[in-house]
Amino acid sequence: MVPGARLVVLGKQGAGKGTQCVRLSHHYVVPHVSTGDMLRAAVKQGTPLGRKAKVQMDRGELLGDDLIMEMVADRLGESDVRARGFVLDGCPRTVHQAEQLAELLSPIDLDLAVDIEVPTSQVLRRLAARRVCTDCGANYSVSSPPLINWTCDVCGGEVVQRKDDTEEAISRRLELYERQTAPLIEWYRTRQQLESVTGTGSPDTVTRRIVKVIEERRDRKSGRPV
Ligand SMILES: [Zn+2]
Repeated sequence: MVPGARLVVLGKQGAGKGTQCVRLSHHYVVPHVSTGDMLRAAVKQGTPLGRKAKVQMDRGELLGDDLIMEMVADRLGESDVRARGFVLDGCPRTVHQAEQLAELLSPIDLDLAVDIEVPTSQVLRRLAARRVCTDCGANYSVSSPPLINWTCDVCGGEVVQRKDDTEEAISRRLELYERQTAPLIEWYRTRQQLESVTGTGSPDTVTRRIVKVIEERRDRKSGRPV
């Protein structure tokens, strides 16, 4: 049996974070816990949390730490996560969230926070080619479109270019991300829970790199020679 894993995956938009999270969740047979997916589902179902989130999003506000952490805490308390672990995608975004997460996970901490690094120039190119399903959020690109005429392979929704995927808007978001995330990366580094992985190359190559750093770290922890 493959051992489970407790992972946080960080990376700017367009770094391939979502793709790698799905792959890691298959590799370690753990749920992919995505705050983006959970929020979309909550809004669609009109749950109390979804309604609260929608009000904040409609006002153009960033979602509050409390709301995100409430959602994550609920999900991490479920039995599949408790049995095998998780790949956490979209949280933490800030040091405050990371502190809350560590508290939530205590006494069993994360295995690792993986930071997927891709040069900004390449991310800009990727994002400009990106197309997204308006219903389920599945990602496509100009070079790998859905099978049928921009209709989502997963849910049949419409696949479009996001309005805010202009180069200027993308640059602004990337800057904001760097500013927000630099302290978070430093926080994990200080706790010796961070590994940075180069995110360039094919998805297969990147997955292999990530699995390698996770396994090497496990070997070191268990005292086995690497
Ligand atoms: Zn879809």
